[in-house]
Amino acid sequence: MTLFCPECGTEKGPFVKNSLCLNCFLKKNKILNVPEKIEISFCPSCTKILVHGKWVKQSEKILKDFIIKKIKTKELTNQKFDVELIQNKNGNSDVNIIVTGKIADEKISLNAKTFLILKKELCKNCSRISGGYFEAVVQLRFEKKPDKKVLKELLQLLNDLGKEQELVKIIELKNGFDVQVFSKKIALSASKKIALKYKSDITKSFTVAGADREGKTKKRFTYCIRI
Ligand SMILES: [Zn+2]
Ligand SMILES: [Zn+2]
Repeated sequence: MTLFCPECGTEKGPFVKNSLCLNCFLKKNKILNVPEKIEISFCPSCTKILVHGKWVKQSEKILKDFIIKKIKTKELTNQKFDVELIQNKNGNSDVNIIVTGKIADEKISLNAKTFLILKKELCKNCSRISGGYFEAVVQLRFEKKPDKKVLKELLQLLNDLGKEQELVKIIELKNGFDVQVFSKKIALSASKKIALKYKSDITKSFTVAGADREGKTKKRFTYCIRI
């Protein structure tokens, strides 16, 4: 028995699932499904992007993977994606997509276009910095001249201990530095390490820095290290 396409009558294969010829199958089925536009949250302050719930540094590879995850295909095996990004003036990009793969053992290639739209949104870190919110101040105080080396060590510790950027602001004073730190926990552990290294003590104190929505007072902690 010879197979023929129930749609166009051709006896020329290949036939997809022993039915339609490949041409008719491609006409009747939407193999490639690409959204008209793809939006991605973008922080205008530090240029990070939000990918799967995390703010990360932008790279072409991350953007391309993000786009590929939005592409849906049907009946296509051995699929490979080729994504080209052409950025335009406003920072958004034209996206050209080529998908290759196999249907009924026949190699096919499909094209699609979409747009990548940057949705401006301050990332968690930049929004708390712009809001001026911080939990602690580490005060480095020096008997003689303020030593920038100690400041550098403190900043390095904050960077290593914190999951996100902890430093909010550095204020330079005649006898030292006030370092505003987002999390009091990180500020304290960094202070302890500095104090240990320079064999000094930490003087802890706090001030009340307003109240939160439930009326609970918010404390701002100060850790003072005299070196
Ligand atoms: Zn056909
Ligand atoms: Zn940011």
